[in-house]
Amino acid sequence: MKVKVGINGYGTIGKRVAWAVNKQDDMEIVGVTKTRPSYESSTALREGHPLYAAHAEDQENFDKAGVKTQGTLDDLLGKADVIVDCTPGGFGEKYRPIYEKAGVKCIFQGGEAHEMAGVSFNALANYHEAWGAPSVRVVSCNTTGLVRTLFPLQQAFGVQKVFASLVRRAADPADKKGGALNAVEPSLKLPTHHGPDVKTIMHGLDIQTMAVVTPTTLMHVHCIVAELKSTVTEKDVLDTWSSSPRVKLISGKDGVKNTGQIMELAKDLGRARGDLMDIAVWKDGVKVVGNTLYYYQAIHQESDVVPENVDCIRSMMKLEKDNLASIERTDKAIGLR
Ligand code: NAD
Repeated sequence: MKVKVGINGYGTIGKRVAWAVNKQDDMEIVGVTKTRPSYESSTALREGHPLYAAHAEDQENFDKAGVKTQGTLDDLLGKADVIVDCTPGGFGEKYRPIYEKAGVKCIFQGGEAHEMAGVSFNALANYHEAWGAPSVRVVSCNTTGLVRTLFPLQQAFGVQKVFASLVRRAADPADKKGGALNAVEPSLKLPTHHGPDVKTIMHGLDIQTMAVVTPTTLMHVHCIVAELKSTVTEKDVLDTWSSSPRVKLISGKDGVKNTGQIMELAKDLGRARGDLMDIAVWKDGVKVVGNTLYYYQAIHQESDVVPENVDCIRSMMKLEKDNLASIERTDKAIGLR
């Protein structure tokens, strides 16, 4: 029998997770919530997801627009084994007791605090920590990106210390809210929260981060300096990432020099929604000096956490013991391999 999954908050992340869950053969979407009818609720219906109103008072919005729902979040909770909370950051705290009362396991996203969920998750680095857990947080797009490339380095060579500068997109492409239209804004509270967030998964890693927000919607770019515990060559590093899941080596020499070109490549590859769920690393932007590795990577913020949510469901629901087997299964089903 397939595990029954509900999505609370069918927005940027929620609609992608719903799509990816329904591609798997061991889990299925039993419903998604929206607060009001919109093109996204039409997308949900078109993709075959039963639609629920987030709150009882939202029901009227759907009734007025003649959009049929199957009930409210409470009804969805009665049908689901696990709920993936994809509401805007900070709402999880309000919903957690509701999920608990309904006896449904819950997954939160990176906009929530680690302490709220108790376990933070990355499929490659700490799959086992979510095993059978009642609530887990899939870390943010930036933290997912940092862990995807740093964990394989730690496994292969050991990592002494990391410093990363994050060049962040101001908003998602469909957002009206977000950063300044024509200005670059540094995060003045230093070091930024991204380093401690990586440590919720790679416990004990020595990592410091800074960040600036830039007027783009396409991707984040990380400039990373990692001091390794052994002497390596650029080839050693690239070989390690070549065999790491959800890392895609790209090349400026092939004309992929910027985030716009990466997004175009994702479309050319026929990726769903034009998403790039892997972390893009410029292979000709990798340099080793002594024990110090320098590299750049780009993060598609709207999609890199999507396969992580699928693996998180597998671990929490004890569907697959081996993380690499889960990753392979997820990725094959959604066209990453
Ligand atoms: P979003 O605004 O695109 O989607 C949120 C959805 O929740 C919308 O459909 C909205 O209608 C719905 N919603 C709003 N209030 C609600 C409520 N009270 N109850 C139920 N649903 C409600 O947001 P998003 O970008 O998908 O972010 C969701 C979570 O994922 C956040 O924690 C965010 O930090 C995290 N995240 C976002 C990104 C990103 O770049 N977009 C990347 C990784 C993680």
